[in-house]
Amino acid sequence: MTKATRGPGQTQSATADLGFDADALRKKYLEERDKRLRPDGIDQYIQPDGEFAHFVDDPYVEPGYTREPLTDEVDVLLIGGGFGGLMAGARLREAGVESIRVIEKGGDFGGTWYWNRYPGVSCDIESYIYMPLLEEMDYRPKEKYSRGPEIFAHAKAIAEKYDLYRDVCFQTEVTEQRWDEERSRWIVSTNRGDAIKARFVCMANGFLQRPKLPGIPGVETFKGHVFHTCRWDYAYTGGDSDGNLVGLQDQRVGIVGTGASAIQSIPHLGKCAQHLYVFQRTPSPIDVRGNGPTDVEWFRSLEPGWQEHRMDNFQYFTAGGSEEEDLVNDAWTDIVHKRMAILRSNKEAGPAARSIDECLETADFIKMEEIRARVDSLIEDPETAEALKPYYRPFCKRPCFHDEYLQTFNRPNVTLVDTHGRGVERVTEKGVIVDGEEYALDCLVYATGFEVWTEYARRSGYETYGRNGLSLSQKWNDGITTFQGMHIHGFPNCFMLSIAQTGVTMNYTYVMNEQSKNLAYIISRALDSDVKTLEVSEEAEAEWVASVIQHASDRNEFLEVCTPGYINNEGSDRKHFRQNGFFVGKPTEFKKILEDWRAEGGMKGLEWEQSR
Ligand code: NDP
Repeated sequence: MTKATRGPGQTQSATADLGFDADALRKKYLEERDKRLRPDGIDQYIQPDGEFAHFVDDPYVEPGYTREPLTDEVDVLLIGGGFGGLMAGARLREAGVESIRVIEKGGDFGGTWYWNRYPGVSCDIESYIYMPLLEEMDYRPKEKYSRGPEIFAHAKAIAEKYDLYRDVCFQTEVTEQRWDEERSRWIVSTNRGDAIKARFVCMANGFLQRPKLPGIPGVETFKGHVFHTCRWDYAYTGGDSDGNLVGLQDQRVGIVGTGASAIQSIPHLGKCAQHLYVFQRTPSPIDVRGNGPTDVEWFRSLEPGWQEHRMDNFQYFTAGGSEEEDLVNDAWTDIVHKRMAILRSNKEAGPAARSIDECLETADFIKMEEIRARVDSLIEDPETAEALKPYYRPFCKRPCFHDEYLQTFNRPNVTLVDTHGRGVERVTEKGVIVDGEEYALDCLVYATGFEVWTEYARRSGYETYGRNGLSLSQKWNDGITTFQGMHIHGFPNCFMLSIAQTGVTMNYTYVMNEQSKNLAYIISRALDSDVKTLEVSEEAEAEWVASVIQHASDRNEFLEVCTPGYINNEGSDRKHFRQNGFFVGKPTEFKKILEDWRAEGGMKGLEWEQSR
């Protein structure tokens, strides 16, 4: 075995003792990708508007809500009451900011956890690092991986503690925000007729919030009951997020999709439906979840500052580094342990050492072989088992973790309808057609996910007009431009909390937390010193964008061979991927950049004008 240069067969000999043939797997991965590549990419999906608008109606509020339009002024207007808006609100309150209004589409705080109430909904990032502000809230999660209702309740408790209910506007959608140069105020318009003036606005629209529907021929014709997982219709199914879907006892139910949301709801549908048909295009990798109750004694023993320390530790293990001790120690960090083990043994191989990329690929093969072996160990029917095995590298799709999902396919009332990568062929009045066979259904659930790479204004549902009437969509026509993922030149007094151009992470609340601290630091100082406008300079923005592009690991090669999905924009155009994605530095580098920036004290890169 020689170093770096590898011809066919060479890695095979290096991995033969690991029990798999790397060349054969590589070939299989490409074949599986090719089955799924389609020229329409993201355009295969339809948006939930027009005749499909009912898919995003809010099933959790009473219809008929009205209120008088607002035209008053606030210091800070936060768009979005999910964890982004909540953490921004909490940090602003801590910094002494009084006048804060949150505008939220839903009927309460919670964002993702308000909308996603499907049976089985839970978070597979450890609760002790995912649930924000645990120390501030003095809250002990019930389990290692929290269920949706607990997280939703935590979100509402944060709003309560930081007095964010005081001036909130629920069931309100922003339709436009426009910079008024003369007044130096944002005018925020909504679907309730509001025209609110705000000194500062912060867009915390969320990351996975615009549901997408599959553009399957005939999708509009189905006469049975139909909804998306993020608007679960319990009035129809009965039960709640713990299951007990008694309304489905005599129902033939179909579910399209087998991503993270489907994985969690399918065990409940399997238990409750008369018959369940799971229409699968690509199987997800299902690793062990291993949930359990929180050890109260252990939790009590944690020292102040433990949560950030634990978040950083997870960040080290999942964003490219490693620390002595793995505090979270779960199936997420196991992927990294596998990689580190291979890299260590490679170091010892001396002249026979292979390239880092080859080692990482080998570690990924090992992980996915383990995932595939788990399918064999849990599924009784060999044909079903084969169909449930994912053939692609970890992180081509989001890893999933569940201890009951796979076993559901052993039930006599559950049928896996594998579409061999082609997807559902047609929807009819009566049901769903795959391979020419019609599956008659009473109820059809779309677990088909959310838009990720589409235009920001399309996903958030409103346009932002900055100086000289320039829209954010126009500004970002050639790719996203920000400073630290928060400021946009030409859009004074406007901030965003988003994933674009911020530190890469698997734990989104980690980045929100860091950005919220910055936001509160800046706004509280600006209010104290009566700053009229605050805007990032063109140079600082350009430098940050250049740094994002430079730091973005060249993942194109990796994404190219991945099976399509939202991670690689359905295998289609990735023109601005380096620019529009994460800032990829050392695991906690983004956090350090923000901390150092605050410590320097001069608001470097920002330009401001005093009121008088
Ligand atoms: P995904 O985008 O992950 O899954 C959509 C599913 O729909 C895929 O299986 C997709 O297949 C399938 N699909 C799309 N079109 C068709 C079609 N025409 N025929 C058949 N199948 C089709 O959405 P999810 O809602 O499951 O998850 C979205 C994200 O939400 C996750 O990746 C994760 O980030 C987050 N999430 C996090 C959770 C957590 O525990 N922290 C829990 C749930 C969600 P294909 O793969 O072939 O495209």
